[in-house]
Amino acid sequence: MRPAGAGRLLPPLFCKKGRHRMDYKIGVIPGDGIGPEIVNEACKVLDAVCGKYGHHFEYTKLLLGGASIDACGEPLTEETIALAKGCDAVLMGSIGGDAKTSPWYQLPPSRRPEAGLLGIRKALNLFANLRPAYLYEELRAACPLREDISAVGFDMLIMRELTGGLYFGERRTEVKDGVRTATDTLTYNEDEIRRIAKRAFDIAMKRRKKVCSVDKANVLDSSRLWRQVTEEVAKDYPEVELSHMYVDNCAMQLVMNPAQFDVILTENMFGDILSDEASMVTGSIGMLSSASLNETKFGLYEPSHGSAPDIAGQDKANPIATILSAAMMLRYSLDLDREADAVEAAVRRVLKEGYRTADILSEGCTLTGTAQMGTLIAERL
Ligand code: NAD
Repeated sequence: MRPAGAGRLLPPLFCKKGRHRMDYKIGVIPGDGIGPEIVNEACKVLDAVCGKYGHHFEYTKLLLGGASIDACGEPLTEETIALAKGCDAVLMGSIGGDAKTSPWYQLPPSRRPEAGLLGIRKALNLFANLRPAYLYEELRAACPLREDISAVGFDMLIMRELTGGLYFGERRTEVKDGVRTATDTLTYNEDEIRRIAKRAFDIAMKRRKKVCSVDKANVLDSSRLWRQVTEEVAKDYPEVELSHMYVDNCAMQLVMNPAQFDVILTENMFGDILSDEASMVTGSIGMLSSASLNETKFGLYEPSHGSAPDIAGQDKANPIATILSAAMMLRYSLDLDREADAVEAAVRRVLKEGYRTADILSEGCTLTGTAQMGTLIAERL
């Protein structure tokens, strides 16, 4: 079977402006709730990228989550996995519904929408999770940190190992000598550490060339191995500055001095906690993008937020997290850095001009709906 990401079939061509023109196959998962609305706007922006830079994106619609349950009776089908594997990258909205009212949640857990998401991550071997946390000057008021800290701003990316460690280790609950006892095991081998560390260094090379590896090497053997292997990988990246930090200190530094971080590299559970902390200090859930990558260039790109069933179909959702996820896709899966920069600059311009969806609205700004926000960003490319 071809590895995911082996779907690029067409050679580069020259467009009329003399630049390289590229054809890409992009899987699109609209998903549930606000998913179809926000993905629509991200595709609008991608189409504008094609128009400006002369690329061609062929979209393949994929079913996942609740939409797949409704159409096929299960949250993830073999067909979706096979189609995704044939694409260069997959862009997703979000999946899931209201757990109290949606019939999807009458099903056993293994057949609910979220099982589809875990299943596709596993099927595509997406072991590297990237979550940028960036404080936009225009949204500083939403930052919950002290003003002197938020005034400096921050721009970091958390690289979390996603398929190993405590969440995937052996576990059991038993009665030992009459006492209920639960055990979880945290295992990493050097190959698992090396592949995620390489990803972090590669991405640091596209940013400010700093990696802070976060561990608990004063206590855990798995962290001591993590530190050793990270240092070995660093030798291949002489331009990148590597530092180490204990996870408890990192949790403090994220709220005391977030500006110090560029790429934070860490294992699964530490990353789970730190990436939520880092994204919450930006104060704006509708702005947070994410990516999950495998060993090829292939990745699944999605906003960090959920399917927001409370505002679905009302043209109220902020599409920016999904548009920024599409920018990550351009940068990390398609190597279109200039185009990714252009999308991010267009988002900044629209914010600077004072346009806001309801979730980030502040005094003196212009309220826009989901579709108008997508159009404004696409027009500013
Ligand atoms: P949520 O992120 O969907 O919503 C939390 C709050 O933030 C809501 O008030 C919502 O209206 C608001 N919000 C979220 N995204 C927004 C946006 N783009 N623009 C404006 N407002 C936005 O979290 P939840 O309510 O806990 O979960 C709803 C569903 O989403 C559940 O079924 C959950 O399992 C699912 N979920 C999916 C993913 C995913 O697809 N990766 C991630 C998290 C949650």
